[in-house]
Amino acid sequence: MRITLLAGGVGGARFVRGLRAAAPDAAITVIGNTGDDITLFGLHVSPDLDTVMYTLGGGISEEQGWGRAEESFTVQSELAAYGAGPDWFRLGDRDFATHIARTAMRTAGLPLSAVTRQLCERWQPGVTLLPMTDDDVQTHVEIADTDGTRVVHFQEWWVRMHAKAPARRFIAVAAEAAKPAPGVLEAIADADVVLLPPSNPVVSVGIILSIPGIADAVRDKVVVGVSPVIGGAPVRGMADACLTAIGVPTTAAGVAAHYGAGLLNGWLVDTADAAAADAPELAGIAVRSRPLYMTDVPAAAAIAAAAVDLALELSR
Ligand code: GDP
Ligand code: CA
Repeated sequence: MRITLLAGGVGGARFVRGLRAAAPDAAITVIGNTGDDITLFGLHVSPDLDTVMYTLGGGISEEQGWGRAEESFTVQSELAAYGAGPDWFRLGDRDFATHIARTAMRTAGLPLSAVTRQLCERWQPGVTLLPMTDDDVQTHVEIADTDGTRVVHFQEWWVRMHAKAPARRFIAVAAEAAKPAPGVLEAIADADVVLLPPSNPVVSVGIILSIPGIADAVRDKVVVGVSPVIGGAPVRGMADACLTAIGVPTTAAGVAAHYGAGLLNGWLVDTADAAAADAPELAGIAVRSRPLYMTDVPAAAAIAAAAVDLALELSR
């Protein structure tokens, strides 16, 4: 079976790790969000691709959900001694090596997709990891604060401001001119099943879908999504700030209605949200409820198996 996913960072990575356990014989392709990418200290940092790579490769910090296990911070403190910032984005020494290697390969002329393949040679994630695009597309946020309206990089809003400044809108800069990375449209077209893991619907999945051609390709497939919202709140993080900014209620039904029946065929919600099955705005979407907390790999695997089962049921 061929399974393709559109994934952000922590929620996407943990789901894919469960899927890999639940469907060991499947050919899994992960299309990763690169809207979070940022240049820091001259280095190309790709947080969501790295979270997927480290999680599947066994190098992730399990407590944080991102970054490397057994990390140290010598380089960043040495940089701080020179007054070199920013200090709000934590980069560990092991993680720095990834960004240095990525930047060196890109400077030598390799596109991000080829660089990602090279980095995955080390981590052997057991899936094909593709960036959504090789083009430079970064997510910016229009915020309104005491200084008036201004636009900041997504990471500055999310990490430095903890998403506290009200967001007016999200801008995938240069997305309209971007092309899907090599293999992305093929992985969607060739998939038996397309899954949307419980990733941020706005700044992870939404940004991937904004690359021309990807949403149309996904619409042609049987698509099953997993709600990142349980009982009216995101499970981790501040996704509610993103949903509110675009006028979507932070509910399992609200997220599915935002994707819409044109894109989504099936939707898994937590048992706490079982009533979503009767929500009139979800007409045309098959809603199933089950526990959706990815407390460990077996729990994530059971959720992933349920998503695949629903997709197969809807394919018949
Ligand atoms: P990010 O790029 O690191 O923010 O990660 P993603 O976009 O992939 O995923 C973020 C989303 O994962 C958040 O909105 C969370 O609500 C969701 N999430 C995290 N852990 C869980 C979980 O155990 N169950 C469910 N259903 N969603 C989760
Ligand atoms: Ca992210």
